[in-house]
Amino acid sequence: MTGVWAIATSPAASALIAAALYVATYLSFLRLLRYPRNWNLPTLPASLATAGLAAIMVAQVALSPDGLDLTALVVSVGFVAVLFGIIAAPAIEFRPATRSGIRPGIRSVTGFLARHGDYAGLWMLGPALVAGYAVPNARLQGVLAVALALELAWFLRHRWSGRRRLYPLGDHDLLVLKAQANGDLEGFAGRHGIRELVLSDGAVGWLGCTKQTLPCPFNLYLGRLGLNTAPCCREHLKDLGYFVASCLKDMGAVHWIDGGTLLGAVREGGKLLAWEDDIDVSVLLDGDITWESLVTGFAARGAQEGYFVDVFKNKGYITISYDPPGSWPLRWERYRMRGEIRLDLVVFRPAVSHGRPVLERGLLKGAMPLTESGGYGVAREIVLPTGMIDFLGGRIACPNQPETYLRILYGDFEQVEYTYVNAAAAETRRQADVAERVDQVG
Ligand SMILES: [Zn+2]
Repeated sequence: MTGVWAIATSPAASALIAAALYVATYLSFLRLLRYPRNWNLPTLPASLATAGLAAIMVAQVALSPDGLDLTALVVSVGFVAVLFGIIAAPAIEFRPATRSGIRPGIRSVTGFLARHGDYAGLWMLGPALVAGYAVPNARLQGVLAVALALELAWFLRHRWSGRRRLYPLGDHDLLVLKAQANGDLEGFAGRHGIRELVLSDGAVGWLGCTKQTLPCPFNLYLGRLGLNTAPCCREHLKDLGYFVASCLKDMGAVHWIDGGTLLGAVREGGKLLAWEDDIDVSVLLDGDITWESLVTGFAARGAQEGYFVDVFKNKGYITISYDPPGSWPLRWERYRMRGEIRLDLVVFRPAVSHGRPVLERGLLKGAMPLTESGGYGVAREIVLPTGMIDFLGGRIACPNQPETYLRILYGDFEQVEYTYVNAAAAETRRQADVAERVDQVG
């Protein structure tokens, strides 16, 4: 027994335990990032679990039978805080600048870190080497070593991931890009780290994302820079929309395209909005279709056909993303990605409000009115029976009265609004869009 105790408290074993605690804290922290990516605050239990693991790890580093190692305590807390800040930056940047509530000073730091998120963790190599050398604490050295190994693995994983595919940029994409760049495409791409842009001999191409690469960081390109959605991402959004629609059809679930997706289909003649950042689909929980059957169905189909599925039960929606699910536990590292090609599947339930049959959802969307039970809803006959509408070369389910539905959500939906786009960038592209329309009419 004393032999086992001696091994467990040996420097090597306690360093290993500290390293394992770092891995657990890292994974728990990654899982927390799914909330800011979805513009939600992390839940209290999830935050407490991560904070608890971090505290245990720091205690393992700083406490020993010899007492408290204050230097190791300060160094480990400082190191993990800075590194986790770097890791969280892309997820924080997901929230559009128009509704971030974060001070601009902090915002410029997270923006910078997110732009270099593929490898920024490796910047901690220098400080880690100095700290590991200066502080003779094996447990601290164990934490520093495993943290940098994880950062190196994250960097190499997408360094070696699939090749990107060259897409031509369409006329309108180019028009908007040139307007935002004020004519200087090369300088603009350099300033904002748009690595996808290929300029050679006057031709402009886009090195597009695939299922094997990281997605284009288009939350930045659309929201901050006011560009159009990249052609690759548009193609994947379409695939995603039809994948989910076919799953729902197979399940026998009543569903319809919603929000910006419906707006694009109606106003833009079956197309996506030029600055679309996701696909919105709604589904009715009724009869055999329950929340559980929906979650089970999508978990199975997502695993089978290579789509990542995430469930937000308390908010009443499921997200289905274009990137394939990784193997556990590294699947959570996807929350470090700067972009995401995603579909939000929101559930509606039949209800009665003020004596009228309605379909209601838990989360507010546009200006959808409150129902008696505290949800948000529309009159049943506006949605049911669902119709079909042109959508990216095919047909997809839509509300029975799509225009009425859109008017409830957005008021005068014919009026173009660049929702979630930075105000200055939106004004620049508004002028370019108006000039183009005048051109077409003329
Ligand atoms: Zn892309």
